[in-house]
Amino acid sequence: MNAKQKLPKVFVVASGNPHKLREFGRILGFSGVVLKSAADFPAIPEPQENAQTFEGNALIKARAYAAGTGQWTIADDSGLEVDVLVGAPGVLSARYAGRHGDDAANNARLLQELSAFADPVTAHFTCVIALVSPSGEEYTFRGECPGHIIREPAGHNGFGYDPLFVPDGQSMTFGQLGSDVKDVISHRARAAVLLKRKISELFTFQRQIQQEK
Ligand code: IMP
Repeated sequence: MNAKQKLPKVFVVASGNPHKLREFGRILGFSGVVLKSAADFPAIPEPQENAQTFEGNALIKARAYAAGTGQWTIADDSGLEVDVLVGAPGVLSARYAGRHGDDAANNARLLQELSAFADPVTAHFTCVIALVSPSGEEYTFRGECPGHIIREPAGHNGFGYDPLFVPDGQSMTFGQLGSDVKDVISHRARAAVLLKRKISELFTFQRQIQQEK
């Protein structure tokens, strides 16, 4: 096994989505580490996410920013997979209704696609996080959050399909539940636990502990 390296002071999160950056910040919570976002590197062209899998897309983004910034880079790809829609919207979740990131239109299309199906409409969110080093080491971590879809949006927290998704074990949507609950049970939180474990294996935290004294 390779010797552990010192924990880098900077990790890049290869996303311009401020919701995701905040979620990663809360979930990872390494003190002394600065998370930079894609917005901090406007000269790096946004790579095309054209893979057929969450793993493929997460790696495309992480590789581009690790190479472009020379920093350890984290990227995720995530989406909603509905059982009766055979896994749709899946990797197309962000642009299900055509325009990237139009949450209201995506939710409306989902409800329309589901109108012919009876309850319960089971589904799960999936998140794959890729961690890529400047020298090309690569890791991926997958987290899933099972639940079901309701027929009318409820709640204003979170983003994307949150107002339509009730996670298993809860009676409210992610849109109604607070980030305290989502940060523990979400697909992203579950993948992030695996990421954190790998970061702990790869790096020594010595310098950080000394700084905190
Ligand atoms: P991407 O991972 O940025 O490519 O996009 C993922 C898309 O999946 C988002 O635009 C949302 O539509 C959906 N999505 C992923 N994670 C969540 C979540 O935690 N809540 C709600 N929607 C999500």
